[in-house]
Amino acid sequence: MEFDHDLAFRNRIKLINDKTIDRTKKYIIYWMAHSHRANFNHGLEFAIELSNKIKKPLLVYFPITDRYKFSNIRYYKFMLDGVLEAKKFIEDRGIRFVIEKVEDVQQRVIELSKDSAALITDKPYLKYFRKLQKNIADSLEIPVFQVESDVCVPVEIVSYKQELYAFNFRRKIYSLLSSYLIPLSAREPKIKSINFDFKVNELTLKDSLEIIDKLSIDKSVSLSPFVGGYTQAKRFLKEFIENKLFKYKEYRSHPELDYQSNLSPYLHFGQISPVEIVLEILSNYKHVDDNINSFFNELIVWRELARNFCYYNPNYNQYEGIPDWAKKTLEEHKNDKREYVYTLEEFENAKTHDEYWNAAQLELLKTGKMHNYMRMYWCKKIIEWTEDPKQAFDIACYLNDKYELDGRDPNSYAGISWCFGTYDRPWKERKIFGKIRYMSASGLESKFDIKKYVEKVKRIKI
Ligand SMILES: Cc1cc2nc3c(=O)[nH]c(=O)nc-3n(C[C@H](O)[C@H](O)[C@H](O)COP(=O)(O)OP(=O)(O)OC[C@H]3O[C@@H](n4cnc5c(N)ncnc54)[C@H](O)[C@@H]3O)c2cc1C
Repeated sequence: MEFDHDLAFRNRIKLINDKTIDRTKKYIIYWMAHSHRANFNHGLEFAIELSNKIKKPLLVYFPITDRYKFSNIRYYKFMLDGVLEAKKFIEDRGIRFVIEKVEDVQQRVIELSKDSAALITDKPYLKYFRKLQKNIADSLEIPVFQVESDVCVPVEIVSYKQELYAFNFRRKIYSLLSSYLIPLSAREPKIKSINFDFKVNELTLKDSLEIIDKLSIDKSVSLSPFVGGYTQAKRFLKEFIENKLFKYKEYRSHPELDYQSNLSPYLHFGQISPVEIVLEILSNYKHVDDNINSFFNELIVWRELARNFCYYNPNYNQYEGIPDWAKKTLEEHKNDKREYVYTLEEFENAKTHDEYWNAAQLELLKTGKMHNYMRMYWCKKIIEWTEDPKQAFDIACYLNDKYELDGRDPNSYAGISWCFGTYDRPWKERKIFGKIRYMSASGLESKFDIKKYVEKVKRIKI
């Protein structure tokens, strides 16, 4: 029997307080928190459905703040490119989209929601945003709906607990996948809210850097050559399908070449839907070959396993969140002599003795996106060249959060945690690492042309 499409859509929606819709209120709000897009956005489409049903104008609301602890110009620019494009597409559908500069997101969303019949927003996986949404839901007298649009299958439907191994998670998610890979049609808004007076202090600037000019955020990090937005994401997807996917399995771990999709920054900001990516690939190929399987293993299995990790493990961004066996073995080797020890500043400025590691850090500094294979080596060496593993975990998180365009994501913490033993098994015991997997410079030399990668990074201009 075919799974009901409407049920699959409804399964992405969760009411997170026990309030009912107040039809005496003036409008409804879709707070665009994580899915920064007009296309293939279940939250937006649900909000339009509700607006049509209760006949209230819809406000799409994007609060921007300089109070968020990680905010910096590099990723705010990328993020705002995407938000401004989404604004245009949504306004073309006759729906008002407001960007507002706010001091305190929680307070302002609560205030604005006082005149709203319902609040709809995107489902978060990280602690800070989950707490923010819970506080808002608890203090409002209207229903707050979380809609999960940035995954193929909703996290709680795949599993109700932290999955410890990828193979279990793979089995579970693949058994549900076909029920959730469903095209999403754009609903027709019956009420045009474009001219409705929502009593907001809208930022009407049309350029990302003009908006950033109004914010006091860290402006010391250089801009990235990546440009944000759905149109750019679709360009990368097209380029990937036409020129890279057919060699993905063989070359995805070759940093000297360029066979990854480059979609992670777009996925991180919800500028493109993972369901749309999967459907687009399936519509271009008659059968699923090894390359497609390999890509889906990253995009679907590992990416959504990272959401499972952060959702169910409260220590996902801390050393304490790694498996017990890994902590035990690292602690046993805590006092092993380190041949090199670097400070955060030396790591940050790519000043180690290792030209391969420095090249990886330089790729990050220059572009805002380090190649996947080098991310593993990069993090493993931070463990090797730091006084203790807890400090290494914090340094890796700090640099990843600050410089990666796709940082501050469930993938960030799952990726770092993987380097500390999560999802892995014990290996042969050795100095410093104990039983966690080790990576060496000679390993890089034997697997691909690492010198070519170093040269490639040197040539990148900023
Ligand atoms: C130490 C470390 C830190 C990492 N930090 C981040 C991070 O901050 N943000 C981030 O998105 N990814 C992170 N990753 C995972 C991975 O390196 C990137 O997702 C990938 O390099 C992104 O490039 P791409 O989109 O071109 O990848 P592709 O190879 O084209 O993969 C397509 C998509 O699959 C997903 N994916 C690929 N590899 C992984 C993986 N190992 N785990 C989970 N999802 C994956 C991503 O969403 C990616 O966009 C990290 C990995 C490690 C080892």
